[in-house]
Amino acid sequence: MPELPEVETIRRGLEPLIANKVFTRPVLLFPGSIRHPEPDRFCEQLEGRRIIAVKRHGKYLLLELDCGLLVVHLRMTGRLVYLEKGEPPSGHLRVVLPFQDGSFLYFSDMRKFGGLWLLESKDDLSPAGMHRLGPDIYEQVTEEKFLELLQKRPRARLKPLLLDQLFVAGLGNIYVDESLHRCRLHPCREAGSLSREEGKALFRAIRAVLEEGIRCGGTSSRDYRDARGEKGTFQERLAVYGRKGCLCRCGAAIERTVVAGRGTYYCPRCQEEKEGPP
Ligand SMILES: [Zn+2]
Repeated sequence: MPELPEVETIRRGLEPLIANKVFTRPVLLFPGSIRHPEPDRFCEQLEGRRIIAVKRHGKYLLLELDCGLLVVHLRMTGRLVYLEKGEPPSGHLRVVLPFQDGSFLYFSDMRKFGGLWLLESKDDLSPAGMHRLGPDIYEQVTEEKFLELLQKRPRARLKPLLLDQLFVAGLGNIYVDESLHRCRLHPCREAGSLSREEGKALFRAIRAVLEEGIRCGGTSSRDYRDARGEKGTFQERLAVYGRKGCLCRCGAAIERTVVAGRGTYYCPRCQEEKEGPP
Protein backbone atom coordinates (compact mmCIF):
# COMPACT_ATOMS: atom_id res chain seq x y z
CA MET A 1 0.00 0.00 0.00
CA PRO A 2 1.32 3.48 -0.80
CA GLU A 3 2.51 5.17 2.40
CA LEU A 4 3.55 8.74 3.11
CA PRO A 5 6.70 8.79 0.89
CA GLU A 6 4.81 7.36 -2.08
CA VAL A 7 1.87 9.77 -1.73
CA GLU A 8 4.31 12.68 -1.19
CA THR A 9 6.19 11.65 -4.36
CA ILE A 10 2.91 11.64 -6.29
CA ARG A 11 2.01 15.03 -4.79
CA ARG A 12 5.34 16.60 -5.78
CA GLY A 13 5.11 15.12 -9.26
CA LEU A 14 1.50 16.13 -9.82
CA GLU A 15 1.46 19.69 -8.56
CA PRO A 16 3.48 21.32 -11.36
CA LEU A 17 1.63 19.22 -13.96
CA ILE A 18 -1.95 19.98 -12.92
CA ALA A 19 -1.99 23.27 -10.95
CA ASN A 20 -4.36 25.75 -12.58
CA LYS A 21 -5.96 23.16 -14.85
CA VAL A 22 -9.75 23.09 -15.10
CA PHE A 23 -11.71 19.85 -15.00
CA THR A 24 -14.25 18.91 -17.65
CA ARG A 25 -16.84 16.21 -17.01
CA PRO A 26 -15.35 13.02 -15.49
CA VAL A 27 -15.90 9.60 -17.05
CA LEU A 28 -16.68 6.82 -14.56
CA LEU A 29 -15.78 3.31 -15.65
CA PHE A 30 -16.39 2.05 -12.11
CA PRO A 31 -18.76 4.41 -10.25
CA GLY A 32 -17.97 2.58 -6.98
CA SER A 33 -14.64 4.44 -6.86
CA ILE A 34 -16.60 7.65 -6.19
CA ARG A 35 -17.26 7.77 -2.44
CA HIS A 36 -18.84 11.20 -2.07
CA PRO A 37 -21.20 12.66 -3.19
CA GLU A 38 -23.13 10.13 -5.25
CA PRO A 39 -21.49 9.56 -8.68
CA ASP A 40 -23.80 11.68 -10.87
CA ARG A 41 -23.50 14.66 -8.56
CA PHE A 42 -19.73 14.16 -8.32
CA CYS A 43 -19.42 14.48 -12.11
CA GLU A 44 -21.76 17.44 -12.30
CA GLN A 45 -20.02 19.31 -9.49
CA LEU A 46 -16.40 18.67 -10.50
CA GLU A 47 -16.90 20.00 -14.02
CA GLY A 48 -15.51 23.53 -14.39
CA ARG A 49 -13.54 23.55 -11.13
CA ARG A 50 -9.90 24.67 -11.19
CA ILE A 51 -7.03 23.07 -9.25
CA ILE A 52 -5.25 25.58 -7.01
CA ALA A 53 -2.75 23.35 -5.16
CA VAL A 54 -1.96 19.71 -4.42
CA LYS A 55 -1.59 18.88 -0.72
CA ARG A 56 -1.31 15.73 1.36
CA HIS A 57 -2.36 14.60 4.84
CA GLY A 58 -1.03 11.19 5.86
CA LYS A 59 -1.82 8.88 2.96
CA TYR A 60 -4.57 11.13 1.55
CA LEU A 61 -3.94 13.28 -1.49
CA LEU A 62 -5.82 16.58 -1.46
CA LEU A 63 -6.46 18.56 -4.62
CA GLU A 64 -7.47 22.03 -3.49
CA LEU A 65 -9.97 23.52 -5.92
CA ASP A 66 -11.17 27.07 -6.48
CA CYS A 67 -14.24 25.78 -4.70
CA GLY A 68 -13.93 22.75 -2.41
CA LEU A 69 -11.51 19.86 -2.30
CA LEU A 70 -10.99 16.64 -4.26
CA VAL A 71 -9.66 13.92 -1.94
CA VAL A 72 -8.01 10.73 -3.24
CA HIS A 73 -6.97 7.66 -1.25
CA LEU A 74 -5.07 4.95 -3.13
CA ARG A 75 -5.45 2.21 -0.46
CA MET A 76 -3.93 -1.06 -1.76
CA THR A 77 -3.51 -0.76 -5.51
CA GLY A 78 -4.76 2.69 -6.55
CA ARG A 79 -2.76 4.85 -8.93
CA LEU A 80 -3.31 8.45 -9.93
CA VAL A 81 -1.41 9.17 -13.11
CA TYR A 82 -1.22 12.26 -15.32
CA LEU A 83 -1.22 11.87 -19.09
CA GLU A 84 -0.90 14.30 -21.98
CA LYS A 85 -3.42 14.30 -24.79
CA GLY A 86 -3.26 11.13 -26.87
CA GLU A 87 -1.38 8.95 -24.37
CA PRO A 88 -3.40 5.81 -23.62
CA PRO A 89 -3.74 4.78 -19.96
CA SER A 90 -2.94 1.21 -18.91
CA GLY A 91 -5.06 -1.41 -17.09
CA HIS A 92 -7.69 -1.38 -14.32
CA LEU A 93 -8.93 2.08 -15.27
CA ARG A 94 -11.75 3.25 -12.94
CA VAL A 95 -12.11 7.03 -13.34
CA VAL A 96 -10.94 9.44 -16.04
CA LEU A 97 -10.62 13.09 -15.01
CA PRO A 98 -10.16 15.14 -18.19
CA PHE A 99 -8.95 18.74 -18.22
CA GLN A 100 -10.05 21.52 -20.57
CA ASP A 101 -6.66 21.49 -22.34
CA GLY A 102 -7.03 17.83 -23.40
CA SER A 103 -4.66 16.32 -20.82
CA PHE A 104 -6.12 14.15 -18.09
CA LEU A 105 -5.64 12.39 -14.80
CA TYR A 106 -6.66 8.79 -14.53
CA PHE A 107 -7.40 6.74 -11.47
CA SER A 108 -6.77 3.03 -11.83
CA ASP A 109 -7.27 0.52 -9.04
CA MET A 110 -7.01 -3.21 -9.49
CA ARG A 111 -8.54 -4.16 -6.13
CA LYS A 112 -11.05 -1.28 -5.95
CA PHE A 113 -10.36 -0.30 -2.32
CA GLY A 114 -9.28 3.23 -3.23
CA GLY A 115 -11.63 6.13 -3.70
CA LEU A 116 -12.36 9.76 -4.52
CA TRP A 117 -14.36 12.26 -2.48
CA LEU A 118 -15.46 15.71 -3.62
CA LEU A 119 -15.89 17.91 -0.55
CA GLU A 120 -17.60 21.28 -0.57
CA SER A 121 -15.34 22.78 2.07
CA LYS A 122 -11.80 22.36 3.38
CA ASP A 123 -13.22 22.89 6.84
CA ASP A 124 -15.42 19.81 6.82
CA LEU A 125 -13.40 16.70 6.04
CA SER A 126 -15.86 14.33 7.73
CA PRO A 127 -17.42 12.89 4.52
CA ALA A 128 -13.97 11.41 3.77
CA GLY A 129 -13.46 10.26 7.38
CA MET A 130 -10.45 12.57 7.62
CA HIS A 131 -11.66 14.55 10.64
CA ARG A 132 -10.48 11.73 12.90
CA LEU A 133 -6.94 11.51 11.49
CA GLY A 134 -3.97 12.23 13.72
CA PRO A 135 -1.40 14.86 12.74
CA ASP A 136 0.70 14.22 9.64
CA ILE A 137 3.89 12.60 10.95
CA TYR A 138 6.13 14.39 8.44
CA GLU A 139 4.59 17.88 8.35
CA GLN A 140 2.92 18.39 11.70
CA VAL A 141 4.81 16.49 14.41
CA THR A 142 7.91 17.86 16.17
CA GLU A 143 10.15 15.76 18.42
CA GLU A 144 8.56 17.24 21.57
CA LYS A 145 5.06 16.67 20.24
CA PHE A 146 5.94 13.07 19.38
CA LEU A 147 7.19 12.41 22.93
CA GLU A 148 3.94 13.88 24.28
CA LEU A 149 1.86 11.69 21.97
CA LEU A 150 3.76 8.56 23.10
CA GLN A 151 3.06 9.40 26.74
CA LYS A 152 -0.67 9.51 26.06
CA ARG A 153 -0.66 5.88 24.91
CA PRO A 154 1.69 4.17 27.41
CA ARG A 155 0.26 0.65 27.07
CA ALA A 156 0.18 0.60 23.28
CA ARG A 157 2.75 -1.54 21.46
CA LEU A 158 4.90 0.40 19.02
CA LYS A 159 4.04 -1.45 15.83
CA PRO A 160 0.23 -1.10 15.96
CA LEU A 161 0.49 2.34 17.54
CA LEU A 162 2.58 3.77 14.70
CA LEU A 163 0.27 2.15 12.13
CA ASP A 164 -2.77 3.74 13.79
CA GLN A 165 -3.71 6.67 11.53
CA LEU A 166 -5.66 8.26 14.41
CA PHE A 167 -2.39 8.43 16.41
CA VAL A 168 -0.19 9.84 13.65
CA ALA A 169 -1.05 9.83 9.94
CA GLY A 170 1.16 8.59 7.13
CA LEU A 171 3.03 5.48 8.29
CA GLY A 172 2.33 1.95 7.03
CA ASN A 173 3.90 -1.46 7.36
CA ILE A 174 7.08 -0.83 5.36
CA TYR A 175 8.22 2.42 6.96
CA VAL A 176 7.27 1.37 10.51
CA ASP A 177 9.35 -1.82 10.27
CA GLU A 178 12.28 0.09 8.78
CA SER A 179 12.08 2.85 11.42
CA LEU A 180 11.93 0.43 14.36
CA HIS A 181 14.91 -1.50 13.00
CA ARG A 182 16.90 1.68 12.49
CA CYS A 183 16.52 2.76 16.13
CA ARG A 184 16.80 -0.85 17.39
CA LEU A 185 13.40 -1.02 19.09
CA HIS A 186 11.37 -4.24 19.22
CA PRO A 187 7.95 -3.87 17.51
CA CYS A 188 6.16 -5.10 20.67
CA ARG A 189 7.74 -2.60 23.08
CA GLU A 190 5.09 -0.57 24.89
CA ALA A 191 5.23 3.18 24.22
CA GLY A 192 5.34 3.91 27.95
CA SER A 193 8.45 1.72 28.42
CA LEU A 194 10.59 3.98 26.22
CA SER A 195 13.11 6.31 27.83
CA ARG A 196 13.11 9.90 26.61
CA GLU A 197 16.25 9.12 24.60
CA GLU A 198 14.61 6.09 22.99
CA GLY A 199 11.54 8.16 22.12
CA LYS A 200 13.75 10.79 20.47
CA ALA A 201 15.71 8.10 18.62
CA LEU A 202 12.44 6.65 17.31
CA PHE A 203 11.26 10.05 16.08
CA ARG A 204 14.59 10.70 14.33
CA ALA A 205 14.58 7.22 12.76
CA ILE A 206 11.06 7.81 11.39
CA ARG A 207 12.11 11.20 9.95
CA ALA A 208 15.24 9.75 8.37
CA VAL A 209 13.46 6.76 6.85
CA LEU A 210 10.65 8.94 5.45
CA GLU A 211 13.15 11.42 4.00
CA GLU A 212 15.11 8.63 2.35
CA GLY A 213 11.90 7.10 1.04
CA ILE A 214 10.85 10.43 -0.49
CA ARG A 215 14.34 10.98 -1.95
CA CYS A 216 14.10 7.56 -3.63
CA GLY A 217 10.67 8.35 -5.06
CA GLY A 218 9.01 5.77 -2.77
CA THR A 219 8.98 1.98 -2.60
CA SER A 220 7.59 0.02 -5.55
CA SER A 221 7.23 -3.41 -4.04
CA ARG A 222 4.06 -4.22 -5.98
CA ASP A 223 1.74 -1.71 -7.55
CA TYR A 224 2.85 1.75 -6.61
CA ARG A 225 3.75 4.19 -9.41
CA ASP A 226 4.32 7.95 -9.26
CA ALA A 227 2.38 10.68 -11.08
CA ARG A 228 4.10 9.80 -14.35
CA GLY A 229 3.71 6.03 -13.93
CA GLU A 230 7.36 5.51 -12.86
CA LYS A 231 8.58 3.17 -10.10
CA GLY A 232 10.40 4.29 -6.94
CA THR A 233 13.69 2.76 -5.77
CA PHE A 234 13.48 2.57 -1.96
CA GLN A 235 12.79 -1.19 -2.20
CA GLU A 236 16.50 -1.58 -3.01
CA ARG A 237 17.42 -0.03 0.35
CA LEU A 238 15.08 -1.88 2.69
CA ALA A 239 16.94 -3.25 5.71
CA VAL A 240 14.26 -5.61 7.07
CA TYR A 241 10.89 -5.27 5.31
CA GLY A 242 10.18 -8.30 3.09
CA ARG A 243 13.64 -9.75 3.86
CA LYS A 244 12.84 -12.77 6.05
CA GLY A 245 15.90 -15.03 6.25
CA CYS A 246 18.26 -12.43 4.74
CA LEU A 247 21.13 -11.25 6.90
CA CYS A 248 20.97 -8.03 8.90
CA ARG A 249 24.09 -5.79 9.02
CA CYS A 250 24.84 -7.44 12.39
CA GLY A 251 24.95 -10.92 10.79
CA ALA A 252 21.72 -12.29 12.31
CA ALA A 253 18.88 -13.52 10.06
CA ILE A 254 15.84 -11.21 9.72
CA GLU A 255 12.68 -12.76 11.17
CA ARG A 256 9.02 -12.32 10.32
CA THR A 257 6.33 -12.38 12.99
CA VAL A 258 2.73 -11.17 13.21
CA VAL A 259 1.94 -8.24 15.51
CA ALA A 260 -1.69 -7.15 15.87
CA GLY A 261 -2.52 -9.00 12.65
CA ARG A 262 0.21 -7.37 10.57
CA GLY A 263 3.27 -9.12 9.12
CA THR A 264 6.28 -7.61 10.88
CA TYR A 265 9.95 -7.91 9.96
CA TYR A 266 12.70 -7.32 12.52
CA CYS A 267 16.20 -8.36 13.53
CA PRO A 268 16.12 -10.51 16.68
CA ARG A 269 19.62 -9.35 17.64
CA CYS A 270 19.43 -5.57 16.94
CA GLN A 271 15.86 -5.31 18.21
CA GLU A 272 15.96 -7.41 21.33
CA GLU A 273 12.65 -7.82 23.15
CA LYS A 274 13.39 -6.22 26.49
CA GLU A 275 11.64 -4.04 29.00
CA GLY A 276 12.61 -0.39 29.00
CA PRO A 277 13.77 1.51 32.10
CA PRO A 278 11.18 1.57 34.92
ZN1 LIG B 1 20.67 -6.98 13.29
